[in-house]
Amino acid sequence: MTIGTALDLHAMTHALDISHRPAPQPARQDLIGLDREEIAAKLIDLGLEARDVRMRSKQLWNWLYVNGASDFERMSNVSKPARALFAEHFALSRPEIVTEQVSIDGTRKWLFRFTDPEHPNMPPVDVETVYIPEADRGTLCISSQVGCTLTCTFCHTGTQKLVRNLSAGEILSQILMARERLGDFPGGSRPTDGLVPAGGTRAITNVVLMGMGEPLYNYENVKKAMLIASDGDGISLSKRRITLSTSGVVPFIEPTGREMGVSLAISLHAVNDELRNELVPINKKWPLKELLEACRTYPGLNNARRITFEYVMLKGINDSDADARELVRLLAKIPAKINLIPFNPWPGSPHECSDWARIEQFADIVNRAGYASPVRTPRGRDIFAACGQLKSESERLSRKERDALEAAAG
Ligand code: SAH
Ligand code: SF4
Repeated sequence: MTIGTALDLHAMTHALDISHRPAPQPARQDLIGLDREEIAAKLIDLGLEARDVRMRSKQLWNWLYVNGASDFERMSNVSKPARALFAEHFALSRPEIVTEQVSIDGTRKWLFRFTDPEHPNMPPVDVETVYIPEADRGTLCISSQVGCTLTCTFCHTGTQKLVRNLSAGEILSQILMARERLGDFPGGSRPTDGLVPAGGTRAITNVVLMGMGEPLYNYENVKKAMLIASDGDGISLSKRRITLSTSGVVPFIEPTGREMGVSLAISLHAVNDELRNELVPINKKWPLKELLEACRTYPGLNNARRITFEYVMLKGINDSDADARELVRLLAKIPAKINLIPFNPWPGSPHECSDWARIEQFADIVNRAGYASPVRTPRGRDIFAACGQLKSESERLSRKERDALEAAAG
């Protein structure tokens, strides 16, 4: 470990006072993560008239996603009796903030703790979400699973077994929480301890599904959350500014383009099957040929809307000139961007990052083939917020432990 340890002292970690947050109420239906139709159906269940259902679901949607309301009391245009009825039956859960860290480069990392409303007796899970401010944009990197079923050799998350999939509400809540903390909702204020872009623009302009987990192994929940996040009457994030990164779950690539319409990133990392089988083991199931074919036919792909190919620079493994030339050759017929990621080390990681001169030489070959600024600057390494460094302490329980907890709960 190099940079991480050296800079640790400068990073700020503070536990937040979360005592004002009500404990989760599992008996009440959580509205966060339900789509408009589902919210309307819940209102019908409460006995509202059709006309009121339309009006109230519109109001609720606006309060939840435009205003970021986390309690019904704030909903000033909803009558008092309706607010009381909603508060009795519905919840607007937010996770607990376990820590919030700010890197010396302004990157912020939150550890959020979620309780599973369907299994309130199960231990809560911890999820990492990262915010990366830049001069012209602010990118939120969100997680889709706790842990991962896959075991890519260079990835810290890959050493944490899959604990569980996150629900649509939990995926969306990461965006809501970050917007709240960064002052992105009306009336909010920007924190002054980071490099959050100032001015009238939103702090969060882009969202990447590049945190913990493989989003295409939690397809339905990710899809639902992204459709809500891009809804024009709500959070209203542009679909072009949402990027889903996959290690290559080929059967879900076409549906991602057709049903979600978000931008796609592929964790390529190797240019031949032999090496990719080793580094990204899902390649044994869907090898390069199938993966690249799915990319070529990704819905909505054109020169203005390219696929990003991520390539982690591993010393002596995948960083030769021949690798660079093969990379360019492989992607020749696909509208592509190439993103070279300096390997971010983590405790016990089996790889080293390529030397800077090597990365530059590799980037030069890629550059000469017409790909602009291909190297991704590592951000937030001092707080372990960089690509592939995320891993929470949450552990998967054995079947026996789960059964015992369920039984104790009756
Ligand atoms: N599971 C998805 C998304 C999460 S990983 C996927 O694999 O695409 C987000 C990106 O970070 C991927 O490209 C991943 O390969 C890369 N990554 C993982 N570990 C890394 C590390 N230690 N250093 C640099 N990049 C890493
Ligand atoms: Fe899972 Fe992605 Fe990490 Fe691979 S790189 S182990 S798919 S999170």
